Amino acid sequence: MRFSILDMPCTNNTCSNGTAMLSSEIYNVQLTLSWLRLVDEDEIPESNSDRLKQMRVKAADLSPTFARVIQDIGDDVKIKELELVDWVPDRAWDNHGGLVTLAGSAAHPMVLSRGDAMNHGILNAYRLVQAITSIHKGEKTQKEAIDAYEHEMRRRTASVVVLSRKAFIGEHVLNASEDSQVVRRSDPPVIVSD
Ligand SMILES: Cc1cc2nc3c(=O)[nH]c(=O)nc-3n(C[C@H](O)[C@H](O)[C@H](O)COP(=O)(O)OP(=O)(O)OC[C@H]3O[C@@H](n4cnc5c(N)ncnc54)[C@H](O)[C@@H]3O)c2cc1C
Repeated sequence: MRFSILDMPCTNNTCSNGTAMLSSEIYNVQLTLSWLRLVDEDEIPESNSDRLKQMRVKAADLSPTFARVIQDIGDDVKIKELELVDWVPDRAWDNHGGLVTLAGSAAHPMVLSRGDAMNHGILNAYRLVQAITSIHKGEKTQKEAIDAYEHEMRRRTASVVVLSRKAFIGEHVLNASEDSQVVRRSDPPVIVSD
């Protein structure tokens, strides 16, 4: 189970318009409950009420405090299905001589278990700006700069995608905690092609 704050109305009891926080101000949060799809009962039902029922059944084995958070979700709360997918960027793609490239989750979608994805997306943006700057300074051609940017990004993120996938599976398989990939970093890197 994950809990994320998506939006908060005020900081230190003062709202952005300078007024004091009212009791009616609400935080916008996201509760995520995830599981592996192994049997028919793991499939996500169509109706919102069936989805809520399914979440309550899945949460029943959690520690009572966490289970109660799920049990207390109101019937009017919309339950969204989030299908997690990933892709290992271990091979080069055609960037048409550096005219088009990828960054962030478009380049290396990964599951959220290690909380790594956005960090790499931000680093991509920084490195891409460096690459574009080198083109404008005449230090590299567009093709050279974007090829180098993509190569560094693929080398950096291919292993992270695999580690995140292992962490996700480890989180959802009982007794996997002794060799947790959530914190482990010792796996050999994925070999990426040029
Ligand atoms: C539940 C959840 C929890 C996460 N937790 C973490 C975390 O703890 N730490 C972390 O580092 N990362 C986390 N991530 C990952 C992080 O959110 C992503 O890595 C990050 O948002 C990727 O940024 P992006 O700009 O590459 O893509 P996105 O944020 O996905 O942005 C892509 C944008 O393109 C728009 N778009 C799509 N198609 C089109 C189209 N055809 N035309 C125009 N616009 C289009 C979309 O609407 C979207 O606004 C989490 C992700 C999820 C889903």
